[in-house]
Amino acid sequence: MRVVIADDEKFVLVVLKSALRSVRFPIEIVGEALDGDDAYRLCCKKKPDLLITDICMPRKDGLDLLAKLRETQPELPVIIYSGFDNFSYAQKAIHYGVEEYLLKPMNCPHHCEIYRSKPRSYKDLPLRFAEFGTVYRYEQSGELHGLTRVRGFTQDDAHLFCRPDQLKDEFLKVMDIIFIIFKALDFENFEAQISLRDKVNRDKYIGSEENWEKAESAIIEACQEKGLKAKIEYGEAAFYGPKLDFMVKDAIGRRWQLGTIQVDYNLPERFGLEYTGEDNKKHRPVMIHRAPFGSMERFVAVLIEHTGGKFPLWLTPDQVAILPISEKFNDYAYEVKRQLEAEDLSVLVDDRNEKIGRKIRDTELKRIPYMLIVGEKEAENNEVSVRKQGEGDKGSM
Ligand code: ZN
Repeated sequence: MRVVIADDEKFVLVVLKSALRSVRFPIEIVGEALDGDDAYRLCCKKKPDLLITDICMPRKDGLDLLAKLRETQPELPVIIYSGFDNFSYAQKAIHYGVEEYLLKPMNCPHHCEIYRSKPRSYKDLPLRFAEFGTVYRYEQSGELHGLTRVRGFTQDDAHLFCRPDQLKDEFLKVMDIIFIIFKALDFENFEAQISLRDKVNRDKYIGSEENWEKAESAIIEACQEKGLKAKIEYGEAAFYGPKLDFMVKDAIGRRWQLGTIQVDYNLPERFGLEYTGEDNKKHRPVMIHRAPFGSMERFVAVLIEHTGGKFPLWLTPDQVAILPISEKFNDYAYEVKRQLEAEDLSVLVDDRNEKIGRKIRDTELKRIPYMLIVGEKEAENNEVSVRKQGEGDKGSM
């Protein structure tokens, strides 16, 4: 394949060339351009099979280049990229007929493609693909809300491909991850809901009766084994499979949906995923979508709402505030800070010339878990007076 490359940065051309050299099929670079006019001339003269170009190049005439090419060589495939996160450029580029520039709305199809990229045997399963994948959804502007509903977010996504007989085991493992996360973040107040098929209307679901039975009882059994009291809701399952959702309550009692484990018979079907079984025949794997956090952005929002800003100690940005009673004790305060930092704690000293009552109030508002107050007595005895966030005086130590 004969390729023209164009970028206004020389070093990008060098990087591009070495990247293209590592591509498996033969590529011949027939021209390199440093600006849009030059790239256009090369495309007319060399008649390449492909143009790879920076859309913002140089100083924005990449768009002019695309416009001219659309007039004269509409069949030439173009791969565009951008050093900028510049969506308006991407949108304009799409107007010029370049449609390869797309935003990824979900990770599932990509993981299915990876699964399908080579033959799989029953011995390969379960196969687990995990990715902190950034995805984009065009939410209506009225629906955007803080960090809970945004247009670009990062899912802690994974897709587990397994045999039907492995489903329960995989479910138990995912529940373990979710419990580890909830425990680390002190989410004690959570609820679980199992969403199953409608009891009567069974023909609106994809997948065999037998598989559904298996999946639904696998989820129920997994919950029983973990001693999890989950509410069962009939008719709440997606058309492609049953699921288990986790909800937490925030500081003022609102319920938020967080982690989810979802069985899926549809995507393996649509992507034609297979594995060779022990019987040497082709079988269809079951797919589980799992995202313990949901999305990182939303999770951070829920975490803040749930804790009212009082994070677990390990997660708090400032764990300890040292408050000297007057400037005379600043040196001792900094000495204590050094000792605590040697123990990997994150510590600040409030050495402002303020009354101690004011310093305590301000620190409470900042949700810093521990306050160490130091004055004459503490400095003499090599001690500190401890106050805990929300609990008050804890004495000297
Ligand atoms: Zn998925």
